[in-house]
Parts: sequence; C-alpha cells; structure tokens
Amino acid sequence: MYRTHTNGQLRATDINKKVTLAGWVQKTRDKGFMVWVDLRDRYGITQLIFDEERTPKEMMETAAQLGREFVIQVTGTVIERESKNPNMPTGDIEILVSEISILNKSLTPPFTIEDETDGGEDLRMKYRYLDIRRKPVRNNLVFRHKVTMAVRNYLSKKDFVEVETPYLIKSTPEGARDFVVPSRMNEGQFYALPQSPQTFKQLLMVGGMDKYFQIVKCFRDEDLRADRQPEFTQIDCEMAFIEQEDILNTFEGLTRHLLKEINGVEIGEFPRMQYDDAMRLYGNDKPDIRFGMQFGELNPVAQHKDFNVFNTAELVVGIAVPGGNSYTRKEIDKLIDWVKRPQVGALGMVYCRVNEDGSFKSSVDKFYDQEDLAKWAEVTQASPGDLICVLSGDTHKVRAQLSTLRMELAERLGLRKANEFAPLWVVDFPLLELDEETGHYHAMHHPFTSPKPGQLELLDTNPGEVKANAYDLVLNGNEIGGGSIRIHDKKTQAIMLKHLGFSEEEAKAQFGFLMDAFEYGAPPHGGIAFGLDRLVAILGGQETIRDFIAFPKNNAGRDVMIDAPAPLDKEQLEELHLKLDL
Ligand code: ASP
Repeated sequence: MYRTHTNGQLRATDINKKVTLAGWVQKTRDKGFMVWVDLRDRYGITQLIFDEERTPKEMMETAAQLGREFVIQVTGTVIERESKNPNMPTGDIEILVSEISILNKSLTPPFTIEDETDGGEDLRMKYRYLDIRRKPVRNNLVFRHKVTMAVRNYLSKKDFVEVETPYLIKSTPEGARDFVVPSRMNEGQFYALPQSPQTFKQLLMVGGMDKYFQIVKCFRDEDLRADRQPEFTQIDCEMAFIEQEDILNTFEGLTRHLLKEINGVEIGEFPRMQYDDAMRLYGNDKPDIRFGMQFGELNPVAQHKDFNVFNTAELVVGIAVPGGNSYTRKEIDKLIDWVKRPQVGALGMVYCRVNEDGSFKSSVDKFYDQEDLAKWAEVTQASPGDLICVLSGDTHKVRAQLSTLRMELAERLGLRKANEFAPLWVVDFPLLELDEETGHYHAMHHPFTSPKPGQLELLDTNPGEVKANAYDLVLNGNEIGGGSIRIHDKKTQAIMLKHLGFSEEEAKAQFGFLMDAFEYGAPPHGGIAFGLDRLVAILGGQETIRDFIAFPKNNAGRDVMIDAPAPLDKEQLEELHLKLDL
C-alpha cells in the first residue's frame, strides 16, 4: 500500500498510530540535529520529523538530502507536536519517521509551489503541471468539477439525457471561423470541428430525445480577445415540445440551483429585460445590474441651444456617477483622456457637476443654463454630489462608449462586487444584424433561430426590425448563456437562409440534412447553451476563465507547454494531401 492516509487527514486523535504517507516535499527545515519536512499532496500538508536521538543516522542523511518537490514515501508514528500550528488542519501532530523511500527526485522547480508564487503567467503555463500542484489552481479545478457535477445531477433529475455528438463534422455557423481537419481518406476534403453541437442537438429532437444536454467542447477560430479560448466548454441543452417560457423557467431553475449549491446564495425570480431596453438603458446587451448608473437620453433637453456638437449628434446620452462631484478638475481631465483612448473611442466628454446645494457647474456653461442642466440631472437621475458624464454621436458607437465608461467607473467605485449575484434574462433579440462593412444582414444568434410569430413577413420589408425568440442569460455583466426557439419546418428555414444570402443550392449543400429531417415530423423545439468556463469563473468570484481550465491556451491561441500549434513533417503533409508552399 502506497499510503494509509492522505496528508490532510491526520489529527490529534490519531496519535500513536503507525501510518504510511506519500507526497511531494513542500519544504525542509534542517537544524542538523533535527530535520522537519512538509509533505504535500492534493489533500493538504503533514509535517514529518527526523531527529538525531530517535532517527537512525542514515535516515538523517537521507532527510537532509531531500529537495523541493521530491516524491517520497514515509512510514512512521503520529506524535503530538511540540509547537502546534493552529492554521493547519494537521497542525497538532507530526510524523516521527521510521522508514523513508525516495520514489522520485525533482529538479528545482522554476517557481515556488506556494499559494502566492513568484512565477509569472508564461512560466506557470509552460510548467502547468507544477502550477496545478499549487493550492489555488487545484482548488479551482475541484471547484469546476463541483459545478459540472451539480449541473449533471440537476439536469438528470429533470429527465435530461447527456448525449455525445461528433467532433469531426461539417461547418456549423455560429459566427466564427471553423477549425478544420484534413481527411486522409478523402483527398481534398476536410472536417470542421463544431463551433457548437447546434444542428446535432436539433436532430436529436427530431429523433425524439426530447430533453438533451451535453457538457461539450466547442471550437471557434476567432481573433483572440482577452480571456477567450479557441476551445471552450458549453453546457449545451435542447428541449422539444416547449415554448420560450419553458426554457427560461428550466434554466433559471438550473442557475438558481447552482447559486444555492455552490455559493449558498438564494435568488428569487430573475428579472427580464427586452433587448431594446438593455441597449437604451445600459448601451449593452449584457448589462451588469448590480448597480445603477442607467443611461439618460438627453436629445430633447440638449439639442435646443447653439452647441453644435450635440445638435449634430444622433444620440446625446449621459450617466450620473454617484459621488462624482468630488473628482478634481485634474481627475475629470484624466477621465476625458480615458474615454478618448482608441480602445473606447469617444471624441470627447461633456460633464456637469451637481453641487451639494443643488446648483450645477458644467463644461458647457456657455451654452446651457441652470434650468437646462436641472433637466439633464432629472433625465440621468443625478443627485447632489454626483457628476453627469455625457457623450454624443452615432447611436451605436456612443452607447458602446458610455457602456465602457459605466463599467470602468463602477469598477473604480467598487460597485462590481464578486460575491453579489445579479442574473438577468435579456429577451426579444433582433433576428438579424446588419454587417456595417458588407451591408449584408446575418443571423444575430444563428440561422436556426425562429422569428417571433407573425414577423416572418417583415423580413422582406424591414429585416432589421424582426425580433427573434432568442434570449441570453446575463450574470454580473457577462453573457453566461444564450439560446432560442428554433425553426422546425423546412419552408421557414428556407426563407431564413434565403434572407441570409444563401442560394438554394448553397442552402441545400450546407443544411440539406437538417431541412430533410424537418420533413419527417420535427417537433417544435428550442434550447440554450451556457459557457461553462465563464460560469465557473463567475461563481468562483473571479473573471479570468483561464484560472479554471487545466491546460489553457495563451492569448495568441498557443499551448506553450506542449508547444502547439506546430508544423507537420513532410510525410504527414503528403499523407493528408496537403501541399504547403512556405
Ligand atoms: N448553439 C448556440 C450557441 O452556441 C446556443 C443555442 O442556441 O442553444 O451559442
């Protein structure tokens, strides 16, 4: 037997027991006549003691040679510690070692295997297996496991069946590029890795599976933004014979269950917000509603004077920053520089102080009097002591800019509290989205999303106005899930694909299998997918998903540990019928 106990297990009640432990040397303290070793495994740390009087000389020498991260096995007796450590669960005892064997040596690790390490991100990723020995990383992986178990248990109890779908498939459009895999046996042909199991889960509904879920890897070849992974995990779900309301209730139930199980937080009914309202009030389709600072649209109260910047703008919109009147002129100037950075992109910012006595002082006093400014305060719901920040310009852009400013200020004001949870359903998304560059519409969610009843005709006249039976679940300003009620008849699917610019032949080539299936009794169905990595990170009170992935890729999409991606050798390329002219 390699071990009788783990290193987190022994207590004072075990004193005098003979035990065998195994693990890694966390650290040694060598006083010559006495050597202490901290032995670590997944479960904790136990202190070993070797002392001149009670330990044979040879063993003293072995103990003195132990280096950090050596793997050892010891047998010994549990004894009471002379100086107890109340900060450790095993702090009352230590092991007086009578046998030791070195199972494996270790080079000195390139960073310290401590809760707070001296290793930078790159180094930790290169030696991720060492990083995983650190408690915070280990705890995150265990935490993720707890979340996935809770998901599986909850959904299984509700009659959902986990079904695996293939990874080597044909392109599924979810708005990104596909990763492709060349086929050796079919020259010149390629599989695509799924951006999601979307079409398969719909086919499972046609197959009568009724309630499906899968914790599944998805692959999207996107330009990498911070904290995105080219491969990531979804909790992918689909149900048949349901309406939107059923989906929202079922998955609100799941989310509520997770918040209770994992975080011990009880949350009532989740609020719902229309997409249009989210955009108008927060400039964003995933608003963080843990705090206020709602947008106030100022066009009617700011476009009647000689201030041309506002008069020529499509949208003039402001927020009231709580307590912001305490900012110095210099601080405000800095804020203006901040919104003008290319990452935010505003052309400038107008501000208005709301003084404690209720009077106003703005950066545009030349144009607006106290009465005007009082109206601004009313629209932005500003109180005495606040600062009103106003941006103007093209609606789409200005909303995004002000939303970025809102989030930044909330962060600075400490309003984004990790242990506070504010879920929100955003519903009634537009069906289509205009691509500003090409002038074409594409599906905002994906091409299988059904328009709201009775809106199909609008597609011809006002495509941008058509609303979809599509919804997102937002948690603390992050989209944690999204889904829709699907089209389940061939005719509607064909109309939809036509509007997305597919010719009949293209639609048949790419989605013929799905449309054919719709002709054999497809039930009404719909679903949702949660981004598991982000969900776990948020429940864990953190925002970087990388911390909850065992072997993540870096911001350039590389795995620096195994050094992937990598070139293939000539033979392999030939076998795959690939010719590279590099
Ligand atoms: N397949 C969708 C996605 O990955 C989710 C869904 O519609 O269920 O976003």
